[in-house]
Amino acid sequence: LIRFDNVTKRFGDNTVLDDLCFSVKPGKHVTLIGPSGSGKTTILRLLMTLESPEEGTIRVNGHRLFPAAEKERREARKHIGMVFQQFNLFPNMTALRNITEAPIRVLGLSKDEAEERAKGLLDLVGLGDRCDARPTQLSGGQQQRVAIARALAMRPQVLLLDEVTSALDPELVAGVLDVLRDIARSTDITMVCVTHEMNFARDISDEVLMFDSGKVIESGSPEKIFSDPEQTRTREFLGAVL
Ligand code: ATP
Repeated sequence: LIRFDNVTKRFGDNTVLDDLCFSVKPGKHVTLIGPSGSGKTTILRLLMTLESPEEGTIRVNGHRLFPAAEKERREARKHIGMVFQQFNLFPNMTALRNITEAPIRVLGLSKDEAEERAKGLLDLVGLGDRCDARPTQLSGGQQQRVAIARALAMRPQVLLLDEVTSALDPELVAGVLDVLRDIARSTDITMVCVTHEMNFARDISDEVLMFDSGKVIESGSPEKIFSDPEQTRTREFLGAVL
């Protein structure tokens, strides 16, 4: 479903992704781990077309995202949704409107259809009774759950999760992770997560990719990577974070 072939991304002299190749099959849950600055977030930003690579090809669902004409890029891009570290909700809109906005504007749903879909998603994330709340009236964990519902409202095939719990107070983390676990179990959505929550990674991942200096240095099942990694670098990294 997602395929990176020989992707290089630089910021000035800094080569952040270095001839990177990897792929993600439909329905799989893949977690990217590795030291700070190893390029994990950049991968998600490339998939959202918030950055573009210097070299290489990125494909989503058979469509080219890079290099590609604008029309093909839009086609590839519409299969992808993302949840950010800092929720990024529209502050002046209710929870419901935050979720209905894009389906109405981009997918052309009627207001009624979009609201029905949004209410179902707010139920799914445990906020069925908070449709009319504005972001400032919600806790960080609740805001993040609205952001998850907002991403799902576009019915993406791929959900990108960028350290979605790292801006939360510790007591709010579990609620958000539980919602994501439910979604991972009950839908066929493909997930690509960047997380420092190693227990969560172990729980939901089919595959873990260990990054260092813009390359995948090791990949495998969570059991393999967390219990019996082959690379010294992976062992050192896990030793420092577990
Ligand atoms: P972290 O776990 O800290 O989020 P990461 O593995 O996600 O790290 P990235 O955020 O992808 O790493 O960043 C990789 C490198 O790219 C870092 O050295 C960062 O400083 C650099 N970088 C990222 N975005 C930009 C930008 N817009 N301009 C310049 N440099 C950038």
